[in-house]
Amino acid sequence: MNDERSRALYDRALSVMPGGVNSAVRAAIEPYPFFVRKGDGGHVVDADGNRLVDWVMGLGPLLLGHDLPEPVQAAIQRAASEGPMYGTPTELEVDLAEFVVRHVPSVEKIRFVNSGTEATVSAVRLARGTTGRNKIVIMQGGYHGAQESTLVEGDADHPAPSSAGIPQAFAEHTLPVPFNDEAAVREVFQEHGDDIAGVLVEPILANYGIVHPVDGYLETLRELTDDHDSLLIFDEVITGFRVGGLGCAQSHFGITPDLTTFGKIIGGGFPVGAIGGRAELIEGFAPTGDVFQAGTFSGHPVTMAAGLETLTFAAENDVYDHVNGLGEMLRAGLTDVLADQAPNYTVVGTDSMFKVIFTREGPSRDELEGQCEAGCRQDPECPRYEYCPKNAADVKRAETERWRRIFWGEMREQGIFLSQNQFESQFVSYGHTEEDVERTLEAYKHAL
Ligand SMILES: *Cc1c(COP(=O)(O)O)cnc(C)c1O
Repeated sequence: MNDERSRALYDRALSVMPGGVNSAVRAAIEPYPFFVRKGDGGHVVDADGNRLVDWVMGLGPLLLGHDLPEPVQAAIQRAASEGPMYGTPTELEVDLAEFVVRHVPSVEKIRFVNSGTEATVSAVRLARGTTGRNKIVIMQGGYHGAQESTLVEGDADHPAPSSAGIPQAFAEHTLPVPFNDEAAVREVFQEHGDDIAGVLVEPILANYGIVHPVDGYLETLRELTDDHDSLLIFDEVITGFRVGGLGCAQSHFGITPDLTTFGKIIGGGFPVGAIGGRAELIEGFAPTGDVFQAGTFSGHPVTMAAGLETLTFAAENDVYDHVNGLGEMLRAGLTDVLADQAPNYTVVGTDSMFKVIFTREGPSRDELEGQCEAGCRQDPECPRYEYCPKNAADVKRAETERWRRIFWGEMREQGIFLSQNQFESQFVSYGHTEEDVERTLEAYKHAL
């Protein structure tokens, strides 16, 4: 595959941008990332003219694919052409807020911001401000953007910043626990319960796996936070308006969080974040409350138009049936491919998310009878249950180097663009077709 132009562009980029990129993960593709010229349905065309089936979809925001339907395009162009923004409210943000409130049961009020990171920063500040407590429980391997309170590793007894530039004193207010480990989170609440402002959790770990919650885990988090007057904060930046359709993952799992952070899809492909929840909590934000929160670009008209029209289009068309159907086809097809070629590997994902985790151990070929048919559901009856990753540490033990250094490149050679490492989810869009799925399954067969 020719990539002379991408190489030349990366050479220029390296001279003027750290690592040649504006977001660290983009440099994960070695020796250099390819540069995209344009999108087309479920495909991207790179700077050298190579066409790839795109399962990255902007790392999550592009529910509809690269070709936006006519009403979405028209609304975006209208908003842009009338002057980009004003520093005073517009009808569009009221419309989008009403849409979210109508569809997500836990959300009575919402504030829009400009990124998922800004949403989780503001949610953590709100949780601390309204409870008068400092400690935040997070999941090891969970991702909540590039922010001080959550770039923390280690465990609840020994939290430490996971990035240079974050004081140890900040990290000490964060309590990391392993996902899906009830005993660990109960212990943390026993020890620190009265100091815990909230638990911040992706309902499905989507930046480290994908890892599905075991039965009862989210319920335990709900019960513990209720018992200790702490807040349960679902980070639905990825799962929001992707898993569980317009009701989001919280509807899918039947759990009502106190606060929810949104991002990605809710802006229809433009920079966005949002914090939603019960009215009296969200009113903790200035100007109604004393938790300061503001942003020059917040509620940007172009973003609001893109988000509103994307979600309206999804409500009125077969978007979720389409993406979830193809997701099911992919996961079921991959399960069959693995049964033949790599029975120890695990298919994960739900609705329009999918991934293969290169787990080192699993049931043997003749023990596969009765396994989850289209993505790991943490089913205790599944012959894979003892082996399938339950938390970030389990995923990290997979053949991550084979994934990144060998497998990713072989898929790209066959015209398939997968996310840049073992950890990030892959996404089906409305622009994808059954033919894309079939081509992709063939490519997996060759590359595995
Ligand atoms: C992407 C992501 C974020 C951060 O959003 P940005 O828009 O990149 O700042 C936060 N939480 C989760 C779960 C995410 O997937």
